[in-house]
Amino acid sequence: MSNKIVVLPKEVREKIRAGEVIERPSSVVKELIENSIDAKSTRILCEVERGGAQRIKVVDNGVGMNPVDIEQSLQRYATSKMRTIGDLTRLETLGFRGEALPSIRAISEVCIESKQKADETGFLILAEGDEIKERRPQPRTEGTTVEVKRLFFNTPARRKFLKSEPTEFRHIRKVFLALALKNRSIHFTLFNNGAAVLDLPPTARLRERFAQILNRSVEQDLLEFKRDFGGMNIHGVASKPEKAHSTRDAQYIFVNGRWVQNSIVRQALYKAYGKSLWGKHPVFVIEITIPGTSVDINVHPNKKEVKFKRERDIFEAVYSAIQDAITDKQQLPDIERERRSIFPERSTPYEAIEEQTLFAGEDGISEPGKESMVPKGFWQLHGSFIFASTKTGFMIVDQHAAHERIIYDRILRRREPLPPQMLLFPLRVDLTLQENEFLEEHIDGFYELGFRIKKFSGNSIVIEGIPPFMREINEEIIHALLEDMIEGVTGKDVFQEMAQQVACSAAMKAGEELKGDEMNKLFDSLFATDDPYTCPHGRPTMIKFTIEELEKKFRRR
Ligand code: ADP
Ligand code: MG
Repeated sequence: MSNKIVVLPKEVREKIRAGEVIERPSSVVKELIENSIDAKSTRILCEVERGGAQRIKVVDNGVGMNPVDIEQSLQRYATSKMRTIGDLTRLETLGFRGEALPSIRAISEVCIESKQKADETGFLILAEGDEIKERRPQPRTEGTTVEVKRLFFNTPARRKFLKSEPTEFRHIRKVFLALALKNRSIHFTLFNNGAAVLDLPPTARLRERFAQILNRSVEQDLLEFKRDFGGMNIHGVASKPEKAHSTRDAQYIFVNGRWVQNSIVRQALYKAYGKSLWGKHPVFVIEITIPGTSVDINVHPNKKEVKFKRERDIFEAVYSAIQDAITDKQQLPDIERERRSIFPERSTPYEAIEEQTLFAGEDGISEPGKESMVPKGFWQLHGSFIFASTKTGFMIVDQHAAHERIIYDRILRRREPLPPQMLLFPLRVDLTLQENEFLEEHIDGFYELGFRIKKFSGNSIVIEGIPPFMREINEEIIHALLEDMIEGVTGKDVFQEMAQQVACSAAMKAGEELKGDEMNKLFDSLFATDDPYTCPHGRPTMIKFTIEELEKKFRRR
């Protein structure tokens, strides 16, 4: 164990391009965490203060180092990750060069504390620039803690180039997240100025990890895509268009396991989203696996640019993978099933109504005429009201109000955004300034309701998808809907108001003739809602009469 670390022979050293490894505090975070990952840690904690310039500490539970290793690790070109010159190419692509800790040490105060499983106790070494200030045993559990203080203390020019603390912290966060996205079986925690800002327990799936990272986001807001193009593999997670962010922070590209920047991939992605982004930025993680010969990854630790040999192919592949995920070909909703959930097949008879005849035609009192198909117990009047007998009398249901309640309930009970009904011919609508503002502000809500809307130009939009239960759509309906929403929102929950208006717009109107089984379903569905007695606006859906009331009217009592 003790000679785990070897100093590279001179010829190897010369082959390794000397370079500035540490550009800014985030580079330190990256190098330290990478070392913890290489040490097989399952738990990594990173603490930073004042954008990292004041203090960066990384604690891990990995294999640790013995006192000799610690001392060696601070020397240039000392690495435990290669032994011979034959390894050099592979080594460079993996980024091992035994340069990180010595580079950090040269420009800061470094304290390394570590313990290996086999050793009795841990050991600590404190270095300040060239000098070793302290060497002593230090009791601790297995693993390593590296603390870097006063970064660039002896290189004032570099220190001056540091940006504001929040900006430096943003870089740190970005690097930290890239490492956490890639190493999902590790539990990562990040503290900033004493406060925990990220805690990411292990997860198996990229989608889960990304959802953890996006704080507010839920997994349902993310699209996942996986494509094999024969030799090239694309896997990723990206936001639904309406869940785009206002910044580009959460965008990650990995090529063959390395976090890189690449404008072709980004362009393909933005193009796939088209105008549905409303000027915002998608969040995404894309992992591309491609034969090593088709790509040049710059090995310099600070230059993460990658260049593909066949850029056109990459562009097409990324574009189509994401576009398919956005239009969601496989998961296209079963509109028929969705409709049925609004009018489910009669399963258990509701109890409020007994199926015995009061009005049906046998006794000739109420001749149902052309509605002779109506089962006993229901009777539609003027295409607007449905009469039904009950145990104690009868009720009259306002079909529009009832249907409104059913749809409203369906919207509020949704567990994920309603599946859109995609239009064969997208509808272009020119909005008023006010309508446009409302739409932009509440685009998330529209998405939840099943609308798929793209910005066209100015105040024009293109509607590509509508809520599953809407039976008709045209410009007029859209204007009316928006107008009602805008008028209705004052002081209320905006989404509830939007849901109410959509329910109202989608519900059957007075004058619509219903067949017997349709009335059956309407009643069933109504009584399955949370509040069958009122419509979402609070008006009654039904009025009940008892036999006694009738008897009184007929002066039988
Ligand atoms: P490299 O990672 O390229 O080998 P570094 O300078 O980053 O070079 O690290 C030098 C050596 O120190 C590593 O090869 C490793 O053996 C040891 N080391 C650094 N950090 C840790 C850690 N957290 N746990 C165990 N060993 C470590
Ligand atoms: Mg390293």
